[in-house]
Amino acid sequence: MKLNIFLGYACNFKCSYCLQDPGKETAVRQKGGVSEFVERVVPQLSGKRIDLLGYWGGEPLLYWQTIRDLQSALFEAGIDVRAIRVTTNASLLTPEIVGDLNAMGAHVVVSDHGSFGEPAWDLVRHLERFSLHFLFTGKAPTAWPWFDRIKETEDRIGRRVFPHVGWVRAMDGCDPAYWMTPEDLALHLSHLWDLAEMRISGDRLASDLLEGPYQEWREAMTRSNSVIEPLCYGSDHVSVDLSGNRYVCHHSVDRSLKTGEMFKTGRTKAEQSAEASAARFVETENCRNCAINHWCRGNCHRSRTHEVDCRLAKAKHEIFSWIAQQEGLRHGGLYHHAHRS
Ligand code: SF4
Ligand code: SF4
Repeated sequence: MKLNIFLGYACNFKCSYCLQDPGKETAVRQKGGVSEFVERVVPQLSGKRIDLLGYWGGEPLLYWQTIRDLQSALFEAGIDVRAIRVTTNASLLTPEIVGDLNAMGAHVVVSDHGSFGEPAWDLVRHLERFSLHFLFTGKAPTAWPWFDRIKETEDRIGRRVFPHVGWVRAMDGCDPAYWMTPEDLALHLSHLWDLAEMRISGDRLASDLLEGPYQEWREAMTRSNSVIEPLCYGSDHVSVDLSGNRYVCHHSVDRSLKTGEMFKTGRTKAEQSAEASAARFVETENCRNCAINHWCRGNCHRSRTHEVDCRLAKAKHEIFSWIAQQEGLRHGGLYHHAHRS
């Protein structure tokens, strides 16, 4: 199971492409904080295996004491947590936090927001497991500037840097100027094919940029799910606040996205409607009949650009299939240069 814990919206930056919903603070009620979490959530996790635990702000480092307390509570209760991920702008790192993160074995995804503020690179270099986050958006449809950014960071910290690549979601909270239009998509897809071809030719950075999304695709495509659940809400994907309220998206605790208490079955009308909103694409005929629905799962259900998202998912599937075929052929000694479709 993937468990996301929402800590709060506070952040020391104000990036316009942020996927969090800081404007919607009405539903944030952290009255009980950690003690409420320990009382209401931890017992329900007993006996469950958490494959990936994600801590989400705002900026999680502003909630560091809370994270420490939550970690202690989970540890003391013997909850089986296999991996931890913290996504941060890393500007507030301290030597103590670095020590804690390393002791937790956390994978730290450092999002470098350039002009908005720099990560504390002197401390980032001491993180045992970290990657640098990049986001494809309508304003950043190609990764070319990231090549230099990765090399600069490697020079700065003296070791290899792995990118962690994502795609913007056209949802509330994110400035529409960053959403991908059909025109942006055309340029972006051509670029993804370039990266794929570069990967096959042995380019290290292109290969690293595609690696995470490619492996995720491979893993999903070899899984045999009979029931297709929405992308961010299901038996294996749970997002909660500290009071144990469950949401259909880990970027927001808006009331309209709340589906009631964790693992509860009976739901109010409002909670049913939140659940239905999560399934609004995946349960359409198109998605139900789609060959890649157990990977795509209807895409982001909060997106305002579903058509673009759907085309992107299908094109990514084609590109990743091509890579798999080329790498399979190469490993079999039969590699020859292939063509984009
Ligand atoms: S629904 Fe999922 S993909 Fe969409 S914004 Fe929320 S967490 Fe991201
Ligand atoms: S690719 Fe399109 S049709 Fe297929 S599951 Fe995703 S959103 Fe649905």
